[in-house]
Amino acid sequence: MKRAFIHGTILTCDAAFRIHRDAVLCTDGETIISVGATMPSGFHPEETIDCTGSILLPGLVNAHVHLGEHLFRGWMDETSFEGLFYSTLFRWESQLSFDDVLCASRCAAAEAAKAGVTAVADLYHHPQATAQALIETGLRGLVGGKILGFALQRPPRQAGGAIDYRFEWEAFREHLDGAEAFADQWHGADAQRITAALCPHATNTLTADMLSQVADRAGRLHLPIHMHLAQMASERETVLERDGIGCVALLDRCGILEQPFLGAHGIFVAPEELYLLERPTATVVHNPIPNAKDAGLIAPMTGYQRAGVRIALGTDAFRMDLLETARFAACIQRTTVQSGTAFPAREVLQWATLGGAAALGLDDRIGSLEPGKAADLVVLKADGVESLSCGDPHTQALYYGSPGLIQSVYVDGRLIVHNGQLQRVDEGDIRRDFADRMTARWSEEGRS
Ligand SMILES: [Zn+2]
Repeated sequence: MKRAFIHGTILTCDAAFRIHRDAVLCTDGETIISVGATMPSGFHPEETIDCTGSILLPGLVNAHVHLGEHLFRGWMDETSFEGLFYSTLFRWESQLSFDDVLCASRCAAAEAAKAGVTAVADLYHHPQATAQALIETGLRGLVGGKILGFALQRPPRQAGGAIDYRFEWEAFREHLDGAEAFADQWHGADAQRITAALCPHATNTLTADMLSQVADRAGRLHLPIHMHLAQMASERETVLERDGIGCVALLDRCGILEQPFLGAHGIFVAPEELYLLERPTATVVHNPIPNAKDAGLIAPMTGYQRAGVRIALGTDAFRMDLLETARFAACIQRTTVQSGTAFPAREVLQWATLGGAAALGLDDRIGSLEPGKAADLVVLKADGVESLSCGDPHTQALYYGSPGLIQSVYVDGRLIVHNGQLQRVDEGDIRRDFADRMTARWSEEGRS
């Protein structure tokens, strides 16, 4: 449908951070055809949307999530993350069914859409279920199955300070072949809105030889690699002891960085390693809220910026509110440099839009509001009591925006949220199914 969005403030989030006030954005079906002061001559919209008092911004890109893990909400919020990881999390994951992941992914995708997220990068078990939930909700996704170096039924054991990873080549090959089978079937699905990645779990949960095999397979299949990177102290210690180098250096040695690469977290990284990620196909995905919440950690984004590394934002297994994540990123990173002018709003918003789009390999298609790009956009109410602000509209969106102010969300010109309501799925059904499954799952766990 041809649409004209009129009278809004348009944050393009393009390379020049252009802003258009009281402007018009026109779409022709799934594509933006103009952004500017007036409508192109001869353009006759079928629908005209008055955006007076609103900000239009590109759909947000959440570049590191595990939608299926939302079934664990509330069970990981106040615990030692390192301890939970090896003793419990893998055991929980081994018990998840396709239907569990589908149910949790539907709930998380619904939350994401209502928060203005139009694309995610997900790595988890049962990726078919995740892809299905994204398609139902109307979102884009870079999706892959988790590749581990051991069998999920025989996860690492932590005895005292040491971790026995119990690596098994047969289990690893099964994970890798499964990931390839997923890519064969789903890459390009739903009119290219679903794409596939290979997703080795982390640098410590696969051996160096296994990581090299993932790199070879990704090269042969022309797939990006999405994984955790230097998330925990035990990850860096394991790699240092086992391979004699840091986590990023290991990925460089194994050929992983030769492929388009998304590395989530990037906390325990030596200063000289940061520069290994300075390449046009690599992105570090900053997940500031779960890092701070789970372990009180802050990734060194100043160092990444100095090294010229591309940055995107993620929410990991926590709330899908990417505006909140961006706001928190700006605040917590300012504390690291003790400056109120570092990390300006327009740059941090760009991490959540164009940076994420580039991480997903989609910056030629989404991530900014420019003619020729897909109509993935968000209409944010900016004249309410919570959001009225006399400052730069980048600061207004970043510091005063929230999911409750998101009026409409479009993906490829398709309306997926209107007046804050999901348009393609029934939120009540999703909520009921999720509540029932969560109750059943955790009453079992409580008895075990
Ligand atoms: Zn993660």
